Amino acid sequence: MAITFDDLPVAGASACDGEMRVAVLNGLLGTMRKRKIRAAGFVNEGLGCGALHVSNSINSWLNEGHIIGNHSFSHRDINSIPLSEYTADVLKGEVITRAMLEQRGLRLRYYRHPFLHAGATPEVKKGLAEFLAANKYEVAAVTFDNQEWVFARAYQRAYVSRNNSQKKRIAQAYLAHMEEVTAFFEKRSQEVLGREPAQILLLHANLLNADHLDPLLAMYRRRGYDFVTLTEALRDPAYEIADGYTGPKGLSWIHRWGLTKGIAVVEEPREPEWVAKAAAGGE
Ligand SMILES: [Zn+2]
Repeated sequence: MAITFDDLPVAGASACDGEMRVAVLNGLLGTMRKRKIRAAGFVNEGLGCGALHVSNSINSWLNEGHIIGNHSFSHRDINSIPLSEYTADVLKGEVITRAMLEQRGLRLRYYRHPFLHAGATPEVKKGLAEFLAANKYEVAAVTFDNQEWVFARAYQRAYVSRNNSQKKRIAQAYLAHMEEVTAFFEKRSQEVLGREPAQILLLHANLLNADHLDPLLAMYRRRGYDFVTLTEALRDPAYEIADGYTGPKGLSWIHRWGLTKGIAVVEEPREPEWVAKAAAGGE
């Protein structure tokens, strides 16, 4: 399986919290260094704390051998803006990243759709796919989708209010959810493909993972996974299967391949209600 992080440099509205962004950067990179994992990070150049923060962060990831891709400038939703506005945001989002990759003799290769939204109508979906191909982007698919972002939001609130017992409780529920959703997609893989593809996990560059990536990765190891790069994972022939979904949802590619083969989407495990409430700022 491959590990990927969206919303670099820091997910959420905290990019200018200095303590926070150092914790996220060091937490993620430190754990991956220890476990000798090369992940992929997808950047929103417009959501960092200024251009210097963005370029410093990209440098740190590249220095450790991670792949860096584009996640658009400002994380717009293709479902709510015209395609031309969306593609302009994609191009605006590659300026720093492309230059930094080229300085190192690397190529900007991967695009990750914000919200995993790839087009709600046939025209938009086709238009975006053609735009990405014309700009030499490969789509960074996701198979292990999950509700990590909801747990991360709740965890961020607990961090702000310095509620350590709540942080611990959220982290435990997070790890349990991730194992449940892994088992779900392992089963779906068998039903859709008759085997497991090289899986691609979606995570975000947030404090939750900075603090708890190690036990999360230990869970995957326990279930028998080795870690490969995104490039290696995408060589699995499963990724040549057409994406059979056109619509507003951000679906795992396992569901998309299932729809191509006439297999209906099955509801995924959700976060516990109390986590959703905590994420929204409730009790
Ligand atoms: Zn994102």
